[in-house]
Amino acid sequence: MEHDEILSWLRETDEARLAELWRRADATRQLHVGGEVHLRGLVELSNHCVRLCAYCGLRAPNTSVTRYRMTADEVLRCARLAESLGYGTVVLQSGEDPGITRDGMADLIRRIKAETPLAVTLSLGERSEDELACWRAAGADRYLLRFETSNRALYDRLHPPRPGTVSDRIALLRRIRALGYEVGSGVMIGIPGQTYEDLAADIAMFARLDLDMIGVGPYLPHPETPLGAAQRPADDDQVPNSELMTYKVIALARLVCPRANIPSTTALATLNPRDGRELGLVRGANVVMPNLTPPKYRVHYEIYPNKVCLRETAEGCSSCLHARIIALGRTVGTGRGDSPNRRGRREPVGS
Ligand code: SAM
Ligand code: SF4
Repeated sequence: MEHDEILSWLRETDEARLAELWRRADATRQLHVGGEVHLRGLVELSNHCVRLCAYCGLRAPNTSVTRYRMTADEVLRCARLAESLGYGTVVLQSGEDPGITRDGMADLIRRIKAETPLAVTLSLGERSEDELACWRAAGADRYLLRFETSNRALYDRLHPPRPGTVSDRIALLRRIRALGYEVGSGVMIGIPGQTYEDLAADIAMFARLDLDMIGVGPYLPHPETPLGAAQRPADDDQVPNSELMTYKVIALARLVCPRANIPSTTALATLNPRDGRELGLVRGANVVMPNLTPPKYRVHYEIYPNKVCLRETAEGCSSCLHARIIALGRTVGTGRGDSPNRRGRREPVGS
């Protein structure tokens, strides 16, 4: 799909035309990844973060956050819970936390792989080549790192690099791919300063990076961040951080990367708790990520306010999602739900 066509879908307001976009995305999803909805159990293992991302409630200077880091045993208990609930993957996510060490994390990955059949996805921020290689050799299967925007000037405004370093997530994603991980990335929708042109270029970038997983969700302002406290630009070029725009991006992501695994995200469900997740699933998505973080920690992983299902138990979350998936006439995925994009083409661990 060419840039101009993506752009015109992003600006489309006609409901009949949009119904056509949803129909095409849903048919493409069915054809390339089928009717299964894969469940990935999310463990938010630490909310410590050294970074200053202008939009995120976990940014280092936010002193209103109660910081925590789960022990390896606690994470392992969550992984066993994921297995017992029938999930095929555990996603270990955190702030960029130097307290998560190369060797400690490698031990944890090895324990999860030895004790469960789960695929392990990491989402631990911009980590060194040495750490990423070590975790891959320990058995990690996938890595998620959103590039957030392909507009370099906007990216630089939002992501001050660590002192003495340059932050280049697109280059890092290519190195992660070269290490043999399945690669996931994505963007926030409607971040202040993001134009329609920018978002169209982001979607074209998904295809150029040949992503295995694409995570997109609305930007939700956090009052304790520089961006959340600032006025939103009111001009015609500014992308709205709306539910409708999120569905458009999910649908277009499916059309440009037909075989990718695409979650219907928690941020979307936060905008529309009643049926946002379901609408994502019928407009291109094929994954959901139930939260396995123990509730006593979960409330402190506040990247944005008013997240849905904050106090739901893991078992409650699982049965709610099963019921929603069945009600759509879809099936709950079994097994690891590896990327059909990479199947048969992945390099051996440690190569
Ligand atoms: N620290 C890792 C990283 O940055 O990749 C993983 C955790 S980070 C909290 C995961 C994602 O949360 C980010 O990639 C970003 O897109 C999203 N996020 C952060 N702040 C947000 C906000 N205010 N609204 C919506 N999404 C947000
Ligand atoms: Fe830290 Fe990730 Fe939030 Fe940035 S987005 S402040 S790296 S947790």
